[in-house]
Amino acid sequence: MAEEPIIQIKNVHKRFGAVEALRGVSLDVYRGEVVVIIGPSGSGKSTLLRCINRLEEYDEGQIIVDGIPLDSAQNINAVRREVGMVFQSFNLFMHMTALENLILAQQVVRKRSRAEAQEIAYNLLVKVGIPEKANAYPIQLSGGQQQRVAIARALAMNPKIMLFDEPTSALDPEMIKEVLDVMLNLAQEGMTMVVVSHEMGFARAAANRALLMDGGLIIEEAAPDVLFTNPKHERTREFLSKVLH
Ligand code: ADP
Ligand code: MG
Repeated sequence: MAEEPIIQIKNVHKRFGAVEALRGVSLDVYRGEVVVIIGPSGSGKSTLLRCINRLEEYDEGQIIVDGIPLDSAQNINAVRREVGMVFQSFNLFMHMTALENLILAQQVVRKRSRAEAQEIAYNLLVKVGIPEKANAYPIQLSGGQQQRVAIARALAMNPKIMLFDEPTSALDPEMIKEVLDVMLNLAQEGMTMVVVSHEMGFARAAANRALLMDGGLIIEEAAPDVLFTNPKHERTREFLSKVLH
């Protein structure tokens, strides 16, 4: 591809005291690509995602997002506005309705009028399939519904990139699909996505590439079908034998 990658990660290292969470990670993600990251607990998956929008500061290497290097406060703020993130825990404001959760950041960060923010918020609740929950508080919603509100809230900022960190792993099994369906739609609309998830069905349906991380490194990268059925590396085989039943 001649086009410049929308995310460029170059030899990134991150230490927490004696722990080297990232030991030289390089990754290019192109516009519209969906990349799924798998790997054992503690392998650095969350740290890598958090470095992309600088929730975590890295020690070495470089990350460039949509042409903007993450190297000054001004640039970091600019990048954060373009990158949405969805976490395992939904992180909604519990004292606000679903709609209010979607309105707040639009007014603060995007400086939208309340009327405009409200219309966008409502349309996004339609998009994630729960317009009837606009006036419900998070406690009145199921986990799957809360996560869909969290996705809608991230989308309300018109991100160019969406990062998902184990978005379905806190959910009861019957709610996983409704969240993955929203993510699959987003992928099909052309959103650039980096997704930490062990949902192989989603990866096969939505991802261009799947990566295995272990020990702070990307060990192997391939099309999801190839990585899951015919991995090259022993560590990938070993990991898959634990998660594929
Ligand atoms: P994963 O998401 O793959 O489970 P993480 O990126 O959360 O892995 O963690 C990678 C390594 O960095 C682990 O050894 C973890 O204990 C360590 N780590 C992550 N965040 C912190 C932190 N804030 N302080 C200290 N150690 C951390
Ligand atoms: Mg993690």
